Amino acid sequence: MSKPSPEVYEEDRGMDAHNSVMREIRGLKEKHYDPHEPTRVWLDEDNTPGGVYDSLTIILNTGGCRWARAGGCTMCGYVAESVEGGSVAHDALMDQIQVCLDHEADNVDEPAELIKIYTSGSFLDEREVGAETRQAIAETFSDRERIVVESLPDFVDHEKVTDFTDHGLAVDIAVGLETATDRVRHDCVNKYFDFADFEDACATAQDAGAGIKAYLLMKPPFLSEQEARDDMVDSVRRCAAVDGCHTVSMNPCNVQQYTMVNELFRAGGYRPPWLWSVADVLERTADVDAIVVSDPVGHGSDRGPHNCGECDDRVQKAIKDFDLRQDPSVFEQVSCDCERTWELVIEEETSYAMPLAR
Ligand code: SF4
Ligand SMILES: [Zn+2]
Repeated sequence: MSKPSPEVYEEDRGMDAHNSVMREIRGLKEKHYDPHEPTRVWLDEDNTPGGVYDSLTIILNTGGCRWARAGGCTMCGYVAESVEGGSVAHDALMDQIQVCLDHEADNVDEPAELIKIYTSGSFLDEREVGAETRQAIAETFSDRERIVVESLPDFVDHEKVTDFTDHGLAVDIAVGLETATDRVRHDCVNKYFDFADFEDACATAQDAGAGIKAYLLMKPPFLSEQEARDDMVDSVRRCAAVDGCHTVSMNPCNVQQYTMVNELFRAGGYRPPWLWSVADVLERTADVDAIVVSDPVGHGSDRGPHNCGECDDRVQKAIKDFDLRQDPSVFEQVSCDCERTWELVIEEETSYAMPLAR
């Protein structure tokens, strides 16, 4: 298993170039955030192995991802939302949780059955969220049904998971795997771990009574539309085949500030995926033995997954319907002339640069 320090991440991995570019881009950030306020909080619903639940989703503002400080992933702007100084104290994190509970109480009558906690990195990394805070959060939500916490595979271990299962909570660990293909994860996403590490985390989680929710990234930079689509079809299948991985959340890349993807986008070298590609992957993998969902962020905009501008809302709605019902026939009900353009893109786009003259 990889050890989480910047030096080891980079050592012999050929990742120095990506990291040095990402460090420079992230160095441009100027935003500062209050450590007593969560990054975001909202109420929605989500499909889980226990059924569709009302959910309270929390993005805790922690010290930010360690990997991001080494340079980090090519598409990730999360560190731009982190607090200065690199860590947030227990009391401040619990203040953030209280803000989220107040938001819930102000907006709904019944507390949500499902709590989802994401951070600007890994909730199970004790440098972001210490044991005291983790245990206090488990206690705070012990009256709910289910909790999802986000973590890189390195930090998944038995005791951290049982802090939650001991309270009778059903637990899912959300892992940002991005793709099942090691080469794409290393070279296009600049993420350091291997699929084998993900498999180990699944086994550890399962042993501690938890499940895994794999997060996949559709269309990192440097892939053509077809390569991106095929990589997702293969990745959904490989994740669904791993014991303990009961849900796959396949999310299209969007262009965030202070990222390499943003630099490529501004230079005309990147387009977020088509929503047709998202629908295509969901349709092609509807037979797998796992819940497969997608939550396209910023759909219909240049910086988010988009089609022609006319059909984006309809295709997005079909994707959201699919998330809740897992029925691929929802996609038969949407069509648009731009599907032909998308088909041509799938056939003809290449990921290498075309020469301008022969
Ligand atoms: S995607 Fe995750 S691992 Fe990568 S830099 Fe962002 S927070 Fe860190
Ligand atoms: Zn269209």
